[in-house]
Amino acid sequence: MTDMTLNIVGGGLAGSEAAWQAAEAGCRVVLHEMRPAVGTFAHRTGDFAEMVCSNSFRSDDDEQNAVGLLHWEMRAAGGLIMEMAARHRLPAGGALAVDRDAFSAAITERLRAHPRIETVAAEIKELPRDGHWIIATGPLTSGALAEAIRAETGAEALAFFDAIAPIVYADTIDMSVAWEQSRYDKGETEAEQRAYINCPMTRDDYEAFVDALLAADKTEFHEGETAGYFDGCLPIEVMAERGRETLRHGPMKPRGLTNAHAPEVKPHAVVQLRRDNALGTLYNIVGFQTKMKYGAQAEVFRMIPGLSEAKFARLGGIHRNTFLNSPTLLDEQMRLKSRPNIRFAGQITGVEGYVESAAMGLLAARLSVAEITGRSLPPVPPTTATGALVTHITGGADAKTFQPMNVNFGLFPPVSGLKSGRRGRTDRYRAYTDRAKVDWQAWLAATAAAPVPA
Ligand SMILES: Cc1cc2nc3c(=O)[nH]c(=O)nc-3n(C[C@H](O)[C@H](O)[C@H](O)COP(=O)(O)OP(=O)(O)OC[C@H]3O[C@@H](n4cnc5c(N)ncnc54)[C@H](O)[C@@H]3O)c2cc1C
Repeated sequence: MTDMTLNIVGGGLAGSEAAWQAAEAGCRVVLHEMRPAVGTFAHRTGDFAEMVCSNSFRSDDDEQNAVGLLHWEMRAAGGLIMEMAARHRLPAGGALAVDRDAFSAAITERLRAHPRIETVAAEIKELPRDGHWIIATGPLTSGALAEAIRAETGAEALAFFDAIAPIVYADTIDMSVAWEQSRYDKGETEAEQRAYINCPMTRDDYEAFVDALLAADKTEFHEGETAGYFDGCLPIEVMAERGRETLRHGPMKPRGLTNAHAPEVKPHAVVQLRRDNALGTLYNIVGFQTKMKYGAQAEVFRMIPGLSEAKFARLGGIHRNTFLNSPTLLDEQMRLKSRPNIRFAGQITGVEGYVESAAMGLLAARLSVAEITGRSLPPVPPTTATGALVTHITGGADAKTFQPMNVNFGLFPPVSGLKSGRRGRTDRYRAYTDRAKVDWQAWLAATAAAPVPA
């Protein structure tokens, strides 16, 4: 019965987890993977769930870390990626690092051996019209399929690069130095007129900052990675290389801004931060996409007055990355609004990272199986790591500035009655993770279903 079959395109981190979840729930799965016949610049093998760069799933701390919490949630849901990561774990302190080749080989073997999974070595080039599909083709989606997606969604809604400016936790910005104001106080409402957070720089601050940008360690582009991106989103260090005044006339221009703490002193330059989520817990540094290495970024950005104690929800970057404008294109069930027989999962939905991608594969599969069996699931609580991520990409994020997102506590609804700022952090994170675990277990229990009839 073709109707009961779930087709999954892409056997990466998301597609592998999705195939496992759906097959374990009793669904027949066809997993289409183009490698090894068609490769990408980053993959080396034909195995499923290949880790293309680092061999780490990051922190495994499920009490104080949002990615560790995501590990916990995936384990509670019987996730294959986490099971195999545990089997092939390498010593790495608090991080969950694995022997990557053994890990991918074991996943490949497990999926190929599953009686309800058929694997097909083929590139999918069109968006399918019928049947149930999950597309999990990742940041390096093949050209033909990307073109088909673009034709369906419009060019504006499918990005080929992410140019990510760093994102700061709002409660780590020093508001005795920074102030809220939109340039020229633009906006109808008071909220709009105070929409940005501004960090002032003296001439000395600015000169030291430019020196640090020029001296910082940078990441090189991969071969074939740069084509076409340089137009709208130059890295800040490249702008600085073009001339010491370039930034002061670009993203750091001080015009139209008055320092609320010292109105008589005109700042030499101003760094602006813009709200990044509906909750107002995250701010991105406007125009600060960068290829600086992560260690260098934290050091350089903390030179900005007001950000000396900043904690970053994610650092900046520029990568080849195919991803959808999910807040406009996907419904809360991860379906393409214009073609609801297709769900998207993994990095292509605008999450960032192996773990986040696998988690979105897990969720998409559970939503698909429910649909195939004629059930509708209650929404995943946004208080869980999985729910916080899917809520962000399908609606919580600002569609105009949408860029890929790691899981982080800034995406969670606040727990009331707890101390804000640095000092309350341990208790706050513990409260987030305790609440998430209870809510995730309840969701899993509420959505557990009888297996799909044969
Ligand atoms: C160069 C690079 C380095 C990265 N490094 C890290 C890192 O160190 N840590 C981290 O957490 N994240 C990293 N990421 C981000 C991201 O987490 C990983 O790319 C992750 O693998 C995404 O999972 P996914 O399942 O969405 O995509 P993938 O794991 O890439 O899986 C997608 C699969 O779809 C297949 N495919 C593509 N198009 C088609 C098609 N038309 N038909 C059939 N199959 C197709 C691909 O061959 C691939 O197997 C990196 C990304 C890139 C590009």
